[in-house]
Amino acid sequence: MKFLNHLNTDQQKNIRKFYNSREWKQVRNHKIQMNPLCEHCDDKDIITPATDVDHITPLSVDFSLRTDYDNLQSLCRQCHVDKTIADNGGNRAKQSRIMNGMDRLAKELLDE
Ligand SMILES: [Zn+2]
Repeated sequence: MKFLNHLNTDQQKNIRKFYNSREWKQVRNHKIQMNPLCEHCDDKDIITPATDVDHITPLSVDFSLRTDYDNLQSLCRQCHVDKTIADNGGNRAKQSRIMNGMDRLAKELLDE
């Protein structure tokens, strides 16, 4: 799997732009409403409220799946971070940077 660092600047820009778009906020809110529980925790019979919506196939791999509901899953923060780290080849050194980025996005969403 590839990460943003390996993408060209245009691809990185498109992904960032999408995550800041009204379209993504609407898709994300709709997904959370449809499935308010973390799907990974649910697989382990644990009930955890979902806080994040994840692209099962990351946008860095297939940008065309960005609004495909079949490519979205509701996750709690911890499962989202674990999954994002796995998507990035299990590089835990990137964890704090990923979490900072997510917190920033979450704040922007709450400001809406
Ligand atoms: Zn979870």
